Amino acid sequence: TSDIRPLVAGNWKMNGTRASLDQIRAIAHGVSGPLSRKVDALVCPPSTLLYVATTLTVDTRLLIGAQDCHQKARTGAHTGDISAEMIRDCFGTHVIVGHSERRKEHRENNKVVSTKARAAYDQGLTAIVCIGETRSEHASGRTMDVLHRQLFESMPDDATGENTIIAYEPIWAIGTGQTPGPEQVADVHAAMRRDLIERFGDAGERFRLLYGGSVKPGNAKELMSVPHVNGALIGGASLKAADFLSIYHAYE
Ligand code: PEP
Repeated sequence: TSDIRPLVAGNWKMNGTRASLDQIRAIAHGVSGPLSRKVDALVCPPSTLLYVATTLTVDTRLLIGAQDCHQKARTGAHTGDISAEMIRDCFGTHVIVGHSERRKEHRENNKVVSTKARAAYDQGLTAIVCIGETRSEHASGRTMDVLHRQLFESMPDDATGENTIIAYEPIWAIGTGQTPGPEQVADVHAAMRRDLIERFGDAGERFRLLYGGSVKPGNAKELMSVPHVNGALIGGASLKAADFLSIYHAYE
């Protein structure tokens, strides 16, 4: 599985105004050097910046995606939502689904997340399916059970390594500065890989497995070198080009 191309992905969440486009420009510039032959880079700005972000990054190696899509792939009476078709129309290539903040604040369950992933496939987008245990699940030793179920239920049957990326994001590590140790990440990622192979056969080897949760320039190298970690999903540290690029260059 070491031939899987790593992906360094940024999730801007509800951050970013037109002034932040300078950071997108700088990231695009920084990821267009020789390392781009080995490593992919993606930024998911808020949907208000999606179209201008893709326009700014034409002819660069930076991919642009969205942070969520509606379960319905195209159109409908869903005030405030955006569809996978709209993301594709803005030249987005990826969409995050099932981020823990969506699961919590918008009560999205595994079934909803799986339906959103299918909507993404319908429009040719790659879904980044997020899973992760809470602090109390972690503390009570239920991590593996929780992840096993989330992984199974949040992924459609027609998921492939092309249309789906999995992000393991322990909720207690998001925005807290705390991370699991490399051995813990290794255990979880190896278990996810086994689950995927059990369900999808050899195709299970092809899914990219990202780690997310307080990835910073200072810990990126250690976390990114864990077996079956095929990249990072970065929140806070993706907002500043210098931090994003420093994490990206951990692959050098
Ligand atoms: C995230 O929410 O996807 C995330 C990983 O956030 P942070 O890097 O800020 O912990």
